[in-house]
Amino acid sequence: MSKFFSKKYAALTPYTPGEQPKEREYVKLNTNESPFPPPPSVVEAAAFEAGKLQLYSDPELLSLLEEAANCFGVKRSEIIATNGSDEVLEFAFMAFCDKKHPIVFPDVTYGFYSVFASLHAIPYDTIPLKEDFSVDYRDYVGIGKNIVIANPNAPTGLCLSLSEVEEIVKSNPKNVVIIDEAYVDFGGESCVPLIRKYDNLLVTQTFSKSRSLAGARLGLGFANEKLIADLNTLRYSTNPYNVNRMTMAAGVAALKEKRYYTAKCKEIAENRAYTAEELKKLGFEVLDSKANFLFAKTEKVSGETLYKRLKDKGVLVRHLRGERTEEYNRITIGTKEQMQIFLAKVKEVLEEEK
Ligand code: PMP
Repeated sequence: MSKFFSKKYAALTPYTPGEQPKEREYVKLNTNESPFPPPPSVVEAAAFEAGKLQLYSDPELLSLLEEAANCFGVKRSEIIATNGSDEVLEFAFMAFCDKKHPIVFPDVTYGFYSVFASLHAIPYDTIPLKEDFSVDYRDYVGIGKNIVIANPNAPTGLCLSLSEVEEIVKSNPKNVVIIDEAYVDFGGESCVPLIRKYDNLLVTQTFSKSRSLAGARLGLGFANEKLIADLNTLRYSTNPYNVNRMTMAAGVAALKEKRYYTAKCKEIAENRAYTAEELKKLGFEVLDSKANFLFAKTEKVSGETLYKRLKDKGVLVRHLRGERTEEYNRITIGTKEQMQIFLAKVKEVLEEEK
């Protein structure tokens, strides 16, 4: 730390992104990316804009918001577009939380929530997931604090139903409820339609997972237009050009490729079911994930050993340190071939560790 670093950040523990190793080719199942490239129309749209990079992007993001409004059946003024959904989540922490407006979230969830809270000096509480790793919606009913819940949750992949989400939103009318739907397209139920009914609901989605655009950085937030206006105040106060030209064009093109992405999500769901079955046959406990990853453990080998041994064998999964997650690994669902390699390597490790 330099002598110039502000004391207000001295105790900050930054978020640790999943490994992006360069030293060797891995079967990469550690950061929940899509195994499929974006369709040609998306690549072409981004490439076309690359020829115009001398110009700033449109700070109003008009064509993207128009297409998104069309796709999601809401108004343009009910959407914000950001540099990945991490950015809209951070804006929400900045806009709606402070010392008098703390936030709560599950004890096992997306690691960035506690980082955003610490970064912005926002008090936060965590609510333990149930023994089976599910969120008990009743823990959040009428809690009188801001709330953020990933639905499906990460790293568990477990979901709340739409009616459970609605109970949480309805019972906390004086607080903002953020539902992070990063993984919703793989089997969850979106609560975007509820933004018309509740003025305290913000729903976030990303193009990083189901739309194969993790490297482009594009996220969306959906809410009542007053909440969106607040978030835009922060966007215009930090970086009005937060979505670059290529990403905006890729996003518009992606929204027009519903058939392609629906087919790919179906394929991921099939590969997920196949992998879960095979892991269970090998003696793993596997949570009933509705996301593009599985969360699994076995008595036969520790979570950390399995992670390390798979890495030695060229397969990368995510091991998350922590009391409740220590024995598990989070395995991103890739192509059928990738999952077959993963399963073969798991079998080898189990044999070797006997
Ligand atoms: N929410 C959850 C639950 C996530 O797992 C991720 C991906 N790391 C994000 C949000 C952010 O994704 P992005 O910034 O790529 O949109």
